[in-house]
Amino acid sequence: MKAVRFHEHGGLDVLKHEDAPEPKIQPNEVLVKVRACALNHLDLWLRAGVSSWKLSMPHIVGSDISGEVAEVGSLVTRVKPGDRVLLCPGISCGQCEACFKGLDSACRSYTLFGAMVDGGYAEYVKSPEVNAIPIPGVLSYDEAAAVPLVFITAWHMLMTRAGLKPGEDVLVIGAGSGVGSAAIQVAKLVEARVIAVAGTDAKLEKARALGADAGINHRTQSIAEEVRRLTGKRGVDVIVEHVGAAVWEACFESLATYGRLVTCGVTSGEEVKLNLRLLYGRQRTLLGSFMGGKGELMDALKFIAQRKLRAVIDSAFPLKDAAAAQKKMEDRDFFGKILLHP
Ligand SMILES: [Zn+2]
Repeated sequence: MKAVRFHEHGGLDVLKHEDAPEPKIQPNEVLVKVRACALNHLDLWLRAGVSSWKLSMPHIVGSDISGEVAEVGSLVTRVKPGDRVLLCPGISCGQCEACFKGLDSACRSYTLFGAMVDGGYAEYVKSPEVNAIPIPGVLSYDEAAAVPLVFITAWHMLMTRAGLKPGEDVLVIGAGSGVGSAAIQVAKLVEARVIAVAGTDAKLEKARALGADAGINHRTQSIAEEVRRLTGKRGVDVIVEHVGAAVWEACFESLATYGRLVTCGVTSGEEVKLNLRLLYGRQRTLLGSFMGGKGELMDALKFIAQRKLRAVIDSAFPLKDAAAAQKKMEDRDFFGKILLHP
């Protein structure tokens, strides 16, 4: 099969479109003919070698995958060849305490497609049967690939970790990112008020089209000042963020008393200064969030099927142009998901 692999860590030029062996399935696995694979920042980190995962080389990244079942193992009963499926990106053991509780990402053997196992930058990928989820309703392969990782993440952050309630004010940092565009919609689902933050007015316009009630351009406006103005000096109840150091001070300053800040990433840096007096005095909560469980994807998919939540697609590239697709992501020149078509 054709795949985009890298044999060593490095820049965009280590991505090679080349022949690779087709995956061999186990009795409890399915072989999926990849129709679409969505990019995530994780792909770039894994390629660059900055994650804590030790990869086997050559390696195929890609965590968000949709496709057609091509072959099933002898123990597989739930899906059959020809079925349209999307793959739940997180792989866990299924039989530890964390897995039993639905806390997949707390499983000690938790990993993602494209991390410790090969991912979707390829014509075929193999998957445990349990990860293969029938694509609901009329969803296209492109939409199905654009949904899993960002909606699991946004759902886990807002609903599970931050316990978002109707009517609360939510600040979404990085509104143009995949997680940002999902978080805006999940927050609107429970009638929260959403203030979107992005680096261009065009992105803020798109955030409004997804339901955001107000926008802040962080290049021309002060996030903290605008939040004060928009909330009558009160601050926001929940902040969804994955940028880290560059926005930390503005975020902490923007939290209401009893506000919760939930973070799932550190694209601009991971070390910050924390004023403990303002943490306890204003009874604020800092929450970490990493992926989520299959059950949370199922929760989000119900609304995806009803078109109350939508996959946001920026663009699609042929698989061989994976480097150009990753460059677009590095340049932050996108809104929503960038896809590859094998
Ligand atoms: Zn487990």
